[in-house]
Amino acid sequence: MGFTTKQIHAGVRPDPITGSIVTPVYQTTTYVQESVDQYLAKGYSYSRSANPTVTALEHKLTVLENGHACTCYSTGMAAIQAVLQASLSAGDHAVISDVAYGGTYRLCTKIYQRFGVEFTFADTSNPSAVSAALRDNTRLILTETPANPTLKLTDIAAISEIATSKGIPHAVDNTFLTPYYQRPLELGADIVIHSTTKYFDGHNATVGGAVVTKNAQWDDAIRFIQNATGVIMSPWVAWLTMQGAKTLSVRMDRQSANAMAVAKFLESHSKVERVCYPGLASFSQRELARRQSSGSGAMLWFEVRGGAQAGKRLMDAVELCSLAENLGSVETLITHPVTMTHADVEPEERARVGITDGLVRLSVGLEDEQDIIDDLSQALELV
Ligand SMILES: *Cc1c(COP(=O)(O)O)cnc(C)c1O
Repeated sequence: MGFTTKQIHAGVRPDPITGSIVTPVYQTTTYVQESVDQYLAKGYSYSRSANPTVTALEHKLTVLENGHACTCYSTGMAAIQAVLQASLSAGDHAVISDVAYGGTYRLCTKIYQRFGVEFTFADTSNPSAVSAALRDNTRLILTETPANPTLKLTDIAAISEIATSKGIPHAVDNTFLTPYYQRPLELGADIVIHSTTKYFDGHNATVGGAVVTKNAQWDDAIRFIQNATGVIMSPWVAWLTMQGAKTLSVRMDRQSANAMAVAKFLESHSKVERVCYPGLASFSQRELARRQSSGSGAMLWFEVRGGAQAGKRLMDAVELCSLAENLGSVETLITHPVTMTHADVEPEERARVGITDGLVRLSVGLEDEQDIIDDLSQALELV
C-alpha cells in the first residue's frame, strides 16, 4: 500500500463496541481488570503506561516510519529526553549535530551535563568529523537533518554506517521532512525522533513527540523510560495528532510546492541577499538531498539586504504570515531564530554554525501561494 493509504488506515480499526470509524478518545486514568490472575489481559492498566488512543497513534507512526515500534510523548523535547535517558549514563559521551533545534542544545548543555554526561557538538554533515569525535565512552550519535534552522543536511546512511561499526545507536530527528519524504530507519538509523507538534499535527493545535525504534531491544529500553518518567502523550493530543496525520502527505506536497514558489520569488528579489531551500539549484547539498529524501519540505530561510535590522523590519511588516514559533502548520509562520527558537544557544556558538542575526526562518503554510508571495512582497517594499 502507498504512503497516503497507510497514513489514513494504519493503526486504526473501527471501534469494537460502536463501529465508530474514528478511534475514540479513551479519556480514562485506569482500566478495570477481570481478575487478579488476568491482570493486563486487555493490555492496559494505567494511562501513564499506555492508553488505547495513544497506542493507535503509535501503531500508525510505526508503519509510516517502517519501524518496529513507537512511543509517543507529551512534547518533542520529552521524546528526545527519552532517547538520552535510554542510552546514556553518568560518564558516557554523546555526539550531537552542531546545528539542531535550540531546545536540544539547551537540554544537553544545561541539564544532562550536570548529571555527568559529556557531549560533542560536531559538524555531522562531515562523516569524518563524526568519526573524529567518537570516544571509548560514546554511547549515542544524535543527528538532525535537515537541521533547524540552517537546513544543513547530514548523510544518514554514512553516519549510520559509522555508528553500526562501533555498536553505537544512531538517532535521527526527522521532524523537518517526516516519513513521507525521508525514512531514516531504511537508511540504517536505529531510532527516529519527531516533534509531532509540527507536521503530524499540522494545525497548530497541540504539542507532542514520538520515538520510532528499529528493534525490540531499543523499544523495551525506551518504553520503560516513557512509563518510569511519566512523559506519555495525552489521549486527547493523540486523537488530534492522528486526525492531522491522515492528511500529512497531501499537506506536505502542497506546502512544499508553495515553498518552492516562495523560494524562487525571494531568490529573484533585489532586496534579498540569499535564500536557502533544499529544492533550489543553488542549495549546496542538492545531491545528498536527492539521494536520501524524496521531497524538499516546506522550511526555508533567507537574509534581507541590510542585515539584522532589515530582517526585523520585514518580520514586523508581514500581515498574512504570522510572527511565531512553531513550524509545519497550515498557517505560514515567520520566525527570528536568534530571538526566538535559538535564543538559548550562546552567540559564539550560533555564529560558528551559521545562525546569523539576519536569518529569517519561514515555515511555508497551505495558503494560496500567490497570497504568501504578495505578503512578502509588500513587506519587502517596507524594509
Ligand atoms: C520543535 C522541535 C523539537 C522540539 O519539539 P517540541 O514539541 O517543541 O518539544 C525538536 N526537534 C525539532 C527539529 C523541532 O523542530
